[in-house]
Amino acid sequence: MTPETPIAVVGAGIAGLALALALEKRGRAVRLFEAAPALSALGAGLQLSPNALRVVDALGLLPELEALASRAHAVTLRRASDDRAIARVPVISTDGTPYLSLHRADLQRVLLRAVERRPRIDLHLGHRLEAVRPRPDGIALTFSCGTDARVTVEAGLAVGADGVHSALASAAGLQDAAPTGRTAWRAMVEARSQGDGAPGITAWLAANRHVVAYPVSGGMRTNVVAILPSAAREDRSGGPAFPKSKTAPRLADLLARADGWTPWPILQTPAQRPYRLCEDRAVLIGDAGHAMAPFAAQGAALALEDAAVLADCLVSEASPAEALARYEAARRPRIDAVRRRVAFHRRVYHLPAPLSLARDAALALRAPASLAADLAWLYDWAPPLR
Ligand SMILES: Cc1cc2nc3c(=O)[nH]c(=O)nc-3n(C[C@H](O)[C@H](O)[C@H](O)COP(=O)(O)OP(=O)(O)OC[C@H]3O[C@@H](n4cnc5c(N)ncnc54)[C@H](O)[C@@H]3O)c2cc1C
Repeated sequence: MTPETPIAVVGAGIAGLALALALEKRGRAVRLFEAAPALSALGAGLQLSPNALRVVDALGLLPELEALASRAHAVTLRRASDDRAIARVPVISTDGTPYLSLHRADLQRVLLRAVERRPRIDLHLGHRLEAVRPRPDGIALTFSCGTDARVTVEAGLAVGADGVHSALASAAGLQDAAPTGRTAWRAMVEARSQGDGAPGITAWLAANRHVVAYPVSGGMRTNVVAILPSAAREDRSGGPAFPKSKTAPRLADLLARADGWTPWPILQTPAQRPYRLCEDRAVLIGDAGHAMAPFAAQGAALALEDAAVLADCLVSEASPAEALARYEAARRPRIDAVRRRVAFHRRVYHLPAPLSLARDAALALRAPASLAADLAWLYDWAPPLR
């Protein structure tokens, strides 16, 4: 694509901000449109695995992000009923790239600050995409911005980085993301003292539900996520109900101390959703292209990977059609592989007894290094941008 081809990115979330930075790094000007009038501290905790952090590193932002995060060395799986350790899965990479836990708002803030330092990125807040119309030589995007105001922008290519409820996908007539039947309940626990927060990443497994906890905000808070069937009832405190008799005291204490429980119904886009739209004048990345349940903690990671690969395709190929063909060939097999891993974790994490006992016995026979090797294909990925 020639440097003159105007690129409009819709959505300044993780995928959109990272794409704008990756393109700018390769000398391209970008227009970035975001519906929110200000990028506030939305979301909750995130784990970012080495594959995601290699993209952040390639953008020159890893030291800044690491200063706001906590480094994990392993994910510990425990039984929710008695807190017994089932397995310890090391998450250390061979090239020294860390595995971090942090608040999503800290990642967004680091990316946003970098965007604001780049004069070739033109960020338009308060612009909500409403309609798209293919043109012979590109695409026209109409945004609402304020009560009655509308603007139409012409671009050679539109990138939909506008999340799970993507307006670009809807405008192109795609089926909406659908509920998975699970809800993620998210809350925070304030540390009672320095060092009191979760020491690492722990997942407590139970029949049909699990809880994950890890430090955010440099260890000053613990992010708690409980994933349950959407039909499960709330307890009296407004949080997710875990039967007392089947919940270890340490886990019950963590759930009781958690504040601000918020339910997030988990949605997913159909696996066959096309990424290339409007005769190759538009493309979907991040959750807009492939929202999936967070059982492998890879949604933001895939959004960062997408950004790095798409930027490379757009600057290296002669036309949008060639760039998007190479993008899809590179991304679809990997995204499908992550989706299969998500389905595997979903099945295995939520097994009822006696199948859960067989799972625990099988995991106990595996050395931590062999469990880590199962995920090497996922965490060893490196971006083309380095
Ligand atoms: C419970 C839970 C736990 C998770 N844990 C992890 C984890 O540990 N690790 C991980 O990697 N991922 C995790 N994820 C997934 C991760 O949060 C998402 O995959 C990721 O944020 C997607 O990034 P995105 O940029 O594609 O979309 P978003 O971050 O949703 O950004 C989309 C942006 O587009 C904007 N927008 C929307 N509509 C319009 C419009 N019409 N016009 C203009 N702008 C628009 C929005 O305001 C937003 O700024 C988790 C998700 C959940 C629900």
